[in-house]
Amino acid sequence: MTGETTEVDMDVRRHLTSEVTRTTLRLQQTILAAVRAYLAGLGCTEVLLPIVGPVTDPGSRGAKQVDIDYYGHRYKLMTSAILYKQATLLAFDRIFCVAPNVRLEPMETAGTGRHLTEFHQIDVELAGASREEAMGVAEGVVAAAAGAVATEFAAARPALGAVATGGYTRLSYRDAVRELVALGVRQDDGAEINWQAEKLLSDRFAKPFFLVGYPKGSRGFYDREDQDDPGWLRNFDLLAGEGYGELASGGERESDYARVVTRMRETGENPAKYAWYLDLVRTGLPASAGFGIGLERLTRYLLGLPEVTAASAFPKLAGVVSP
Ligand code: ASP
Ligand code: MG
Repeated sequence: MTGETTEVDMDVRRHLTSEVTRTTLRLQQTILAAVRAYLAGLGCTEVLLPIVGPVTDPGSRGAKQVDIDYYGHRYKLMTSAILYKQATLLAFDRIFCVAPNVRLEPMETAGTGRHLTEFHQIDVELAGASREEAMGVAEGVVAAAAGAVATEFAAARPALGAVATGGYTRLSYRDAVRELVALGVRQDDGAEINWQAEKLLSDRFAKPFFLVGYPKGSRGFYDREDQDDPGWLRNFDLLAGEGYGELASGGERESDYARVVTRMRETGENPAKYAWYLDLVRTGLPASAGFGIGLERLTRYLLGLPEVTAASAFPKLAGVVSP
């Protein structure tokens, strides 16, 4: 190889030729293959969804969206496929996609070891499903991935056996808040659990676990409000154990037109911008539940890596200029 090397060039070279990166990316293929086989076995059709559109998921916890100029219209890069996932249920009852998402996370996330500004999500949506069914499938995805990796990697990561057997604990958001307050964390009931507090909770579990029923103010308009428990959502997060933190978010979706519009207004979204989606909701979209699992986070967790950057060939961190 000839020519001058730049600092960026050296970083890319070092990253792509490191044994850790190569082993991780190879095992990521094992994970993807296992997840695809598991979801196909449940009758899910894999679809390829857009990466640009007039609107995208507004519920991404303080991360900024990226605008692009689309023939004079302001379009967005996808922060998640949620709107398209729901729409695609018009074609198939059970779908999934593996798609890139871009979220401009706050600068302070650059050092967490678990935030990438560009990542891939295994996004699943199931018509007619309840939160519990969606959680069962999310558990199945993680367990299947752990089982597949365990056959090659169990010696390096003994915890995989337990992750592969499933049986993940369900903890309500409200109990989690009580536990955090008892640990001395300042956590308001009704607010999002931030990533530091999440890590603390996650440290207390040896296996993945679910947090269920977040408060309305903390999430996007599409997570369905519990009609029997107003102010609380029929949603969940799946957190890894051992301090690795959040792997997935999901829930039942609001499919009632008037309620979707109200929720948009409550969350500061302008319904006019969501015209294509709202037209579909008004004329009828199936009730559904689903979730999205961050592929790089899942890979990092299953392999027990200190940094999520190892799980991406070209990792992007908040505020860091990189290819
Ligand atoms: N796509 C996820 C969902 O299905 C949410 C997320 O992207 O965080 O709920
Ligand atoms: Mg999430």
